[in-house]
Order: sequence, then C-alpha cells, then structure tokens
Amino acid sequence: MKNLNLAIVIPCYNEEEILPQTIKKLSKLLDTLISEKLISPSSKLVFVNDGSKDKTWDIIEKNNKTNQYVKGICLSRNFGHQEALLAGLYNTKADAYITIDADLQDDINVIKDMIEKYQEGYEVVYGVRNKRDTDTFFKRNTALWFYKLMKMLGVELVANHADFRLLSKRAVETMSSFKEKNLFLRAVVPLVGYKSTNVYYDRKKRDAGITKYPLKKMVLFALKGISSFSAFPLHLITLSGILISIFSFILMLWTVIAYFNNSTIVGWASLMSVISFFSGITILFMGIIGEYIASIFVEVKNRPLYIIDKTLE
Ligand code: UDP
Ligand code: MG
Repeated sequence: MKNLNLAIVIPCYNEEEILPQTIKKLSKLLDTLISEKLISPSSKLVFVNDGSKDKTWDIIEKNNKTNQYVKGICLSRNFGHQEALLAGLYNTKADAYITIDADLQDDINVIKDMIEKYQEGYEVVYGVRNKRDTDTFFKRNTALWFYKLMKMLGVELVANHADFRLLSKRAVETMSSFKEKNLFLRAVVPLVGYKSTNVYYDRKKRDAGITKYPLKKMVLFALKGISSFSAFPLHLITLSGILISIFSFILMLWTVIAYFNNSTIVGWASLMSVISFFSGITILFMGIIGEYIASIFVEVKNRPLYIIDKTLE
C-alpha cells in the first residue's frame, strides 16, 4: 500500500469564530492518520479564503507559520463556496482530496472510512447524512423536495450529500475538463463516473458563527442547479404549448359557432379568465426561458471561476 498524500480542502468565508477550533481538530486527525500509516506525513490542510471580511486570512497565515499541515489560498474577493472548493482542488498537488466545510458540521471521523474506501479502489466517496434532525423543519423539507424535483428533471444527485466527499487525483483531473461555469458540483461529480461509494454520518449543528447560506443564496443555488443540468423545463414549455394550442383552436371553433348562433353577448367572464390564464402562462414560460438565457449568458462570457490573490505553501 502506497503512502497516500492527502489534501483536505476547506473553503472559508468569514469563519474567524470557528477556524481556530477547526484547524486544531483537523491537525489532530492528520496526526492520527499519519501515525496509523494511512496517509503520508506530507498530507495537508488547504484553507481557501473566499474573500472574508473578518480575520479569517490572518488566522490562516498565523497557523501556516506554526503548523506544518496548514496551507492557504487567498481569493481576490468573494466568489462563492463552489468556486472556492475548485480553487483549492485545482491548485493543490495530492493523490486524493477531501472537501469539507469550515464549520465541521460533517463528521470528521468518517474521513478515515473515506480513505479506506479509496484504498479499496473507489475514486469518489460521498459523505451522506443519515438523518436531518439537526436542520430546521423548513430546510429539511425544502431539501427533500429539491432532491425529488431534480430526480424528476432527470438530474442524478446523491440525496443528503452536500460537498463532503473524497475525490481521487484522476477524478479531480477529469472534473477539470468540464469547462462549464455554472458549477453545481454535486451534480458534476456523478457525471465524472468512476467507481464510487457512500459513507454515512450524522451531521451536527454549527458550533460557532452563522450560516453563510441564507435563504436567498439557497434558492439561487437551487435554480442554478436546475438550469445548468436539466433542459426539461424547456421541453415542458413546448409540450404545454402544443396542448394549449389545441385547446385554443377548439375555443376558437366554439366562438365562431356561437357567433353564428347569435349567442355572443355574455362572455366577459370567460374572456377575462382566458386572458388572465394565458398571460400568466406566457410570463411564466418567458421566465423559464430567461433562466436558460441567463445560464448561457454566464457561460459565453467565460470569465475565470476564481482569481487567486496569494498562496501560502
Ligand atoms: N462559504 C464560502 N463562500 C461563500 C459562502 C460559504 O466559502 O460565499 C463556505 C463557508 O465558509 C463554509 C461552507 O462554505 O465552510 C458552507 O457554508 P455554511 O456552513 O454556512 O452552509 P450551511 O452548512 O449552513 O449550508
Ligand atoms: Mg455549515
């Protein structure tokens, strides 16, 4: 068994309250894994500072001087969680990568299981949450419906899996050949293929700090996931268009017949309902098309996903 050089990638956005604790816990874990000869002593913790406005980067810099595991990548501004993850993955050399959130809500004890799965030959190991009882009622249910919807739309997702996963070097290289900008990583990773498996854990509550995913960000993230992975809503428009056209044609025939039967005085209510119904549908469908145009808009500009300001080796 070859000595595995592991990189744990941790995106951080305004995490000063929890970061010192996170660095301590992860360093201890690496100590243990190294002493058990599961990973090589050159393994590292890569903290990606995603344009934090607090002391996050100072903490990373300070720990980089005293802690041999701690490496840092500082982005030039806030790019977003997914972008920060990729900056870490694509700018670090390792045999395998594990991505985990800075708040360590995901159980770091299954990292060992992930490595064991990797040694068995799995190139992608998903961290999957057993239950969601630490989430609010709202988050739990919206998440559930989101998974159902994505499945209906034909997008393969691992349910109850966020961005806690192990990726082999080859899987990361393959992922980098996906040139799209609308990155919704949890849908990209299954597209990479290769042998994959799950490990299960219970997710904790955040120990300190607040969530960096308020409702607005969550909804935008979900929309991004749909519009960049499924063209089904577009097909739905065409399909409804056909049905509505048939319906309108029948309505037209009925109107003409009614006209020749001299019974066209009453009609305000039906007219109003037909107009409002079709205006609603029209605007909704324009909106759906707009979502896709927005996706294309982002893609064609082909802007960099992230910009690195400085790095700490
Ligand atoms: N994060 C980031 N950039 C952002 C928002 C979040 O790098 O713009 C990081 C954040 O520091 C954390 C992870 O993404 O490590 C997940 O965020 P959070 O724990 O707040 O999300 P939640 O667990 O509430 O869904
Ligand atoms: Mg969290």
